Amino acid sequence: MKYYIQSFGCQMNVYDAKSMMGLLNEAGHESTSHLEEAELILLNTCAIREGAEQRVRGRIGQLKKYKDRGSLKYLGVCGCMGQKEGERLTRDVPFLDLVMGPGAIGSIVRLVDALERGNRPVLDLHGIDDDFDEVYPVADEEIVYPRFLSIMKGCDKKCTYCIVPYTRGPERSRDPQILLQEAESLVQKGYKEITLIGQTVNSYHFGDVHFPKLLEMVNQIAGLKRIRFATSHPNSVTHEMLDAIATLDHVCEHLHLPVQSGSNRVLAEMDRNYTREDYLEITRYFRSRFKAPLIQSTLTTDIIVGFPGETEEDFEQTLDLIRSVRFDGAFMFKYSPRRGTPAAEMENQVDDFTKARRLERLIQLQQQIAGENNRWLIGQKAEVMVERVSHHPKQGRVYEARLRTGRIVKLINPEIEYRVGDMFDVIITDCSSYSLYGNPDHDGSNPKQLEIA
Ligand code: SF4
Repeated sequence: MKYYIQSFGCQMNVYDAKSMMGLLNEAGHESTSHLEEAELILLNTCAIREGAEQRVRGRIGQLKKYKDRGSLKYLGVCGCMGQKEGERLTRDVPFLDLVMGPGAIGSIVRLVDALERGNRPVLDLHGIDDDFDEVYPVADEEIVYPRFLSIMKGCDKKCTYCIVPYTRGPERSRDPQILLQEAESLVQKGYKEITLIGQTVNSYHFGDVHFPKLLEMVNQIAGLKRIRFATSHPNSVTHEMLDAIATLDHVCEHLHLPVQSGSNRVLAEMDRNYTREDYLEITRYFRSRFKAPLIQSTLTTDIIVGFPGETEEDFEQTLDLIRSVRFDGAFMFKYSPRRGTPAAEMENQVDDFTKARRLERLIQLQQQIAGENNRWLIGQKAEVMVERVSHHPKQGRVYEARLRTGRIVKLINPEIEYRVGDMFDVIITDCSSYSLYGNPDHDGSNPKQLEIA
């Protein structure tokens, strides 16, 4: 059967989609990139914000025409929204055939078989996966970065605003031997870089293997040039972990560490279990591990504005923390209440106008800092790996290539044609708040010293 999977939301969904593709292909199904020829369409959904769910509902409506025409036999919703909404979805959308949660990824072939036997709707919402210790077959037809590898799933932290612990269940870490096998099969497929993922990736522990030890083990895989990971929780950061980032050859010098707020009062209401002082200590130590910290390392974060009860003073403390840390990038959001979470029940909700105004101020400040940080890189020489190529009507070929530190360098119409995965040195020539621009430096003629790790 020809199938099409569309993923929404986080990197875990991208990984889950790859895992389902591997399993479906192994069972003889075939992926297609054309909706009109798909007999099975799976929407791999996100429930983290209201807007994400609305997008999925809109998409379901758009896909109905394929059902009406008869080309689409089965339409399914998987992922966090499937788990959260469950049977209610099949009542709201009578033409839906399958609803499953993230825990049912490993059962996808069995669920499709059930559809083929005439069962409808098919539901699998049991929550926790029983196939966690399987090596998923690699379905990738071509190399596409970033390539994720899930090392743990679920979350025990229960931040008061977050739906994830209710949709993805408690924290489970995968056996390191299984992970190493999966990582090796990706390297054999041609991947030079892998991103280890988990809801709180640095809480990983399996027996006596904790996260820094796992980094050390993955670092030894022959042929693997770059290791990234996301997303870390401040409460599980150790100096040993930060030392591993600074010292292991293939672990990239980028720490994405969500802070969410700079106010201790709000952090406590969020139940984040750290203070702004704890957070500042971690980021100071991380930057101190590099001789030229703003050049050799990258620090990024997530921030929520307008959490229930956030005052102007709380918000000012967030701005103050941003000025102190000088993040290289940030994902910034307005708080979005999620039914079933404690924060959604809090009485002192912030109005949307205030949230929007705070978000705008936050974005302006962060953009200014990111632009200033980027300027430090102009004139530096560094290794990049090509991730994407596009064709611009005026500029010609534009390559997006990533530094070890995670930042993107754009190469405009260079003399040589590159392929995804090519690695070489560039000289950074210009920047904006979001991007760096550079030229390849194949002959090593640039007089500047190699500064970026
Ligand atoms: S750490 Fe908090 S925000 Fe992150 S997944 Fe767990 S509950 Fe959600």
